[in-house]
Amino acid sequence: MFSKIPFNKAKIFSVLALLWIASGYFLPIDITINGREFQINAYPEFYLIPIFAIWRIRTEKDPFQKRRVLWMMGLFAIFFVTMPLFIRSVPLLDGSNAPLVASYHMVGSVSFFLFFIAVFLFGKRADCGWNCTCVFTRETVAWAFRDKTRKGAFWWNLRHLKWILFLTVWGFFIYMLIDPMNAGTAFGKPMYQVIYTIYYLSILLIPFTGHRNYCRWGCPWSATWGVLNILGTFRIAADTTKCTKCGICEKECDMGVPIRNLIFETGRIKTVECMGCERCVRKCPKGVLTIQDFRDQIPGFGLLPFSRMVRIVIGLPLILLPFISNHSILLFLALLGVLLVLSGILGYCPIENTFLKCTPNVFKWTKRT
Ligand code: SF4
Ligand code: SF4
Ligand code: SF4
Repeated sequence: MFSKIPFNKAKIFSVLALLWIASGYFLPIDITINGREFQINAYPEFYLIPIFAIWRIRTEKDPFQKRRVLWMMGLFAIFFVTMPLFIRSVPLLDGSNAPLVASYHMVGSVSFFLFFIAVFLFGKRADCGWNCTCVFTRETVAWAFRDKTRKGAFWWNLRHLKWILFLTVWGFFIYMLIDPMNAGTAFGKPMYQVIYTIYYLSILLIPFTGHRNYCRWGCPWSATWGVLNILGTFRIAADTTKCTKCGICEKECDMGVPIRNLIFETGRIKTVECMGCERCVRKCPKGVLTIQDFRDQIPGFGLLPFSRMVRIVIGLPLILLPFISNHSILLFLALLGVLLVLSGILGYCPIENTFLKCTPNVFKWTKRT
């Protein structure tokens, strides 16, 4: 049924869903059942995201993007549905507590700092491409308005607006370190109110500006992760000798990145804005663009999928051997099994072309002038 809903009809459902999401913040609707009060439009993302994800998966033509949405839904189920059932709240740096779902991006939470590492190693896609409540909403509920994405110099220059909230958030972080007792009430609360208000306003503006408006122009985390994107190991390398300047990559980019200018000026895409969706990489007809992150800098990384599967399939039974007997040979084989499975999962092969026929793509990064 979902695959039969065309893009333009989906826009009607999308507008209604976006209005419903925004109403949960701007216009809470309370009802009373059996003497208990409920807000019927509280957090509608929890059911709207999966419903629109089905439509998205059924209509997506690009197999990679289809897998990406499936991954997103898996992460949504883990981080936003299952884990909150077991972990109610988490402590923040200032000694206060926050509900788990709200804490993922909160300044001073554990996940806030864990994202630093993930983004440094894998780029902004560790959050903004695959794993943010916002990206779940925007890549599913708001997806029908992707064609409204504003491109061109004016809209690209608006990206600087997000530094205002970036400075505010980091001002709050410093305040938190200096005066943890009062920072939350004096600064944090009003700050989050401003951020949420801008976020939900951006939801209402999606039909006019495209689905990634907040990510492009307003999000303070977009800016924070963006800095790490620049400092870290993620980049999209370009072989400009093959580029025909056809512009397909820019048409595909939902963040409005002027890809052609960037690759001809610097030989790569390494910007605060790129959220690593890989659309430009996958759609480039000449194979100009290549994603790279920290794994490409490990010599021997890049096992072929078949070799990875072989390692996992052989390694797993070996790991179980010590359950039969704790003989030292079996323990040794189990250790070998762990190494095989890890090597299969990570796709890493330090011994080129000799062990289980691996053929790693040894990373060769040459800076262009
Ligand atoms: S830019 Fe901000 S809102 Fe958008 S996906 Fe990233 S963290 Fe979420
Ligand atoms: S799609 Fe590929 S060939 Fe076309 S402009 Fe972009 S990088 Fe160049
Ligand atoms: S530059 Fe490419 S990978 Fe980055 S956001 Fe744009 S389309 Fe996605």
